[in-house]
Amino acid sequence: MNITTKILIWMAAGLVTGSLINYFATDNSIIQVYFVDGLFHVAGAIFINLLKMLVVPLVTFSLICGVCGIGDINKLGRVGIKAFALFLLSTALAISLAILVAKNVAPGKSFNLAEGLPDTFTVPEAPPITQVFINLVPDNPVNALAEGNMLQIIFFTILFAISLLMIGERGRPLIQTAERINDVMMQVVNVVMSIAPYGVFALMAKTFAQQGIGLIMPMIGYFGVVVGVLVCHATGTLMLLLKFLGKISPAKFMRKMRTAQIFAFSTASSNATIPVTLRTVEKRMGVDNSTAAFIVPFGATINMDGTAIMQGVATVFIANVYGIEIGIVGYLTVIGMSVLASIGTAGVPGVGLIMLAMVFNQVGLPVEGIALIMGVDRLLDMVRTAVNVTGDAVVTMIVARSENSLSMIVFNDPSAGMLET
Ligand code: ASP
Repeated sequence: MNITTKILIWMAAGLVTGSLINYFATDNSIIQVYFVDGLFHVAGAIFINLLKMLVVPLVTFSLICGVCGIGDINKLGRVGIKAFALFLLSTALAISLAILVAKNVAPGKSFNLAEGLPDTFTVPEAPPITQVFINLVPDNPVNALAEGNMLQIIFFTILFAISLLMIGERGRPLIQTAERINDVMMQVVNVVMSIAPYGVFALMAKTFAQQGIGLIMPMIGYFGVVVGVLVCHATGTLMLLLKFLGKISPAKFMRKMRTAQIFAFSTASSNATIPVTLRTVEKRMGVDNSTAAFIVPFGATINMDGTAIMQGVATVFIANVYGIEIGIVGYLTVIGMSVLASIGTAGVPGVGLIMLAMVFNQVGLPVEGIALIMGVDRLLDMVRTAVNVTGDAVVTMIVARSENSLSMIVFNDPSAGMLET
């Protein structure tokens, strides 16, 4: 059996187990204490740590190999600019679609405000946008590595790798060492992936035992519109971009993307999914290491199509609930702010709500409104992270194709890079 099928089966089993526990088990029952807060919690947390553990060394060494592999600073700049432009384009398309659909479906028009508000709510803190640019440059690279600050790691590593190229022959042994370490890290990813089915099961069981599907009911309008637009964007807009800009088959892409999407869904973190996304685009789809190593971590940090969609719909929803008209200029501001906010925030669980606070502040919507959508945010976070990761891979593929860095032989081979269990 291949690993994706196995993970899918365990994911479904986790979802059913969690939902049953949520429905039948009371708060302090043995099942809750020993399984949900015990076994599932521990196994899930270990699995997430295993993935996160890989991110910093994998990105660092992969990026050194990538930059030294490209070997040409002009090409590096070109790849970076193309990727950045495509990230902005896809995010702007995503949020525009979200606002358009939400304006027409109008979720929240008949919402009863008194029923939805929880008693306690702390306003998420939003960093000022200027800080985003300052934070690009680490004052201490060791600190950046220790904290896993992706943009700072990318900045320092690229500078390091370019300098390594500049010292010529003397840099060779170090480049070769980085290549060997990169091989080892890729193998560690394979090992971690072989236990992924159980990790995914634990994460799903825990999330659904705590959340329960019933929570969605009062918010079904908002929830439904967000999920609807997420699906349209992933299977429509992104696939059109892939087909017309990249001349790449969406069906084959989607089939190979499934494992990374499941990882993103169950971890709700694009950052933690980086090892799997990298492996997928390199080994399964044939993007060469130099392009993939550069674009994937970059995308996991700054490209968040799914999160932008949630923000678009949330803005319309909260404006409807509070009966505030924010007008066309307001919506344009929302589009601009969401794109900027996604650049400045990392791909970790729940960060979308912090970005939403930035957006609401800017257009004058009550930030307390976020309390309304918090209840269903964890589930939406899972879906939108899968869309975020899909967007990262789509951009990687398009840029790789345009740079002749994509092996169509690997891409067209259904079993390329497939792990068996
Ligand atoms: N969890 C998302 C990600 O990692 C970000 C968010 O929407 O909260 O991509």
